[in-house]
Amino acid sequence: MSKLDDQKILRLLNEVTGRPRGTDDFVPLHEPRFSGNEWVYVKECLNTGWVSSVGSYVDLFEEKVAEAFGVKKAICMVNGTAALHIALLMAGVAENDEVIVPALTFVASANAITYCRAIPHFVDSELATLGLDPDALDSWLDEVAEFRENETFNRRTGRRIAAIVPMHTFGHPVRMSRLLEVAAKWSIPVVEDAAESIGSRLNGNLLGGLGLVGATSFNGNKTITTGGGGALLTNDIDLANKAKHIATTAKKPHKWRFYHDRLGFNYRLPNINAALGCAQLEQVSEVIAAKRHLALAYEAAFKDIEGLRFVVEPEHSQSNYWLNAVILDDPSARDPFLEVTNEQGFGTRPCWMLMNELPMYRNCPSSPLSISQSISSRLVNIPSSAYLGLKFVKSSAHHN
Ligand SMILES: *Cc1c(COP(=O)(O)O)cnc(C)c1O
Repeated sequence: MSKLDDQKILRLLNEVTGRPRGTDDFVPLHEPRFSGNEWVYVKECLNTGWVSSVGSYVDLFEEKVAEAFGVKKAICMVNGTAALHIALLMAGVAENDEVIVPALTFVASANAITYCRAIPHFVDSELATLGLDPDALDSWLDEVAEFRENETFNRRTGRRIAAIVPMHTFGHPVRMSRLLEVAAKWSIPVVEDAAESIGSRLNGNLLGGLGLVGATSFNGNKTITTGGGGALLTNDIDLANKAKHIATTAKKPHKWRFYHDRLGFNYRLPNINAALGCAQLEQVSEVIAAKRHLALAYEAAFKDIEGLRFVVEPEHSQSNYWLNAVILDDPSARDPFLEVTNEQGFGTRPCWMLMNELPMYRNCPSSPLSISQSISSRLVNIPSSAYLGLKFVKSSAHHN
């Protein structure tokens, strides 16, 4: 097994990120950038007093988010986890159900399932997309599931399998056509966790609206941010209205009466955050172009480096490259690599620990997870802020 050439890799990181040689400015993993109308829109909220969950920016942002994800309706929420929670409820996930989710994901995907009093059921991911493997899912369901009266049950636990939650890791699309085929075969609704994949495309189509319902996040570290925030995404207008109602404490609109017709949640996004989001969305194409150029530069730089490979977008897709990543050949090289890169001023970090390794999810049902384990033990994210890619956009514009 080849040893990593630390000095060479550090030199390449310096070159690609454009950090002036000899300076020790830290290059963070991912930083937001506010270079458009953010100041103007947020100031307007403060001037007019419309800072809370009703206001013109919320409506405008919902329209613009729907456009950005190619869906009919977006309902903004306080964060992506809340949006995913409501999305799962809208798909009919209820107490004691199981929900298929990759073990290789951010903890929010599993937590939102638990908030519905349902149980995550982990299925393996694949190397080419870093997401749920539809073929592994297909054979796993053949092994453990049974179809009764139009619903699918886990034969081993007796519980209903109520939804499948694919997650587009770091912006790279899951093989959705195959996944939707498997989901249709078992009549299980698909809830897309599109938290990381704004603007990513598969066969030309945007992600987030490919299943029954989806959710995204506008947290501070995501491709665009509202500070904290998220949105439910759907092409089903009735579902969207229901979601908005439940996220607004299930209050029936009335001039003075406080009547709530079911258990609701206070999950609406404040206007001040939506204002920030409107300004950020105006720049989303440039941001994604910059991120894609940064990824190209990394790909070229790391092409002939022994002992690691840069993660590229899967076939038939255009990734937003939210977070760039390398996969090391040797898992035991990972921690030393993290140590030396952080020491030398580059914000690198490992992949998430697998969900089934966390204390609250240790005993959940699970398929074999050998690929998830292999990815999780060898993947390292490297600096990915959009502004690092701007210099490449400008230089390529000259050539065009
Ligand atoms: C960011 C993220 C979420 C939602 O996160 P919030 O911080 O609640 O906005 C959900 N799933 C994944 C995979 C994420 O990366």
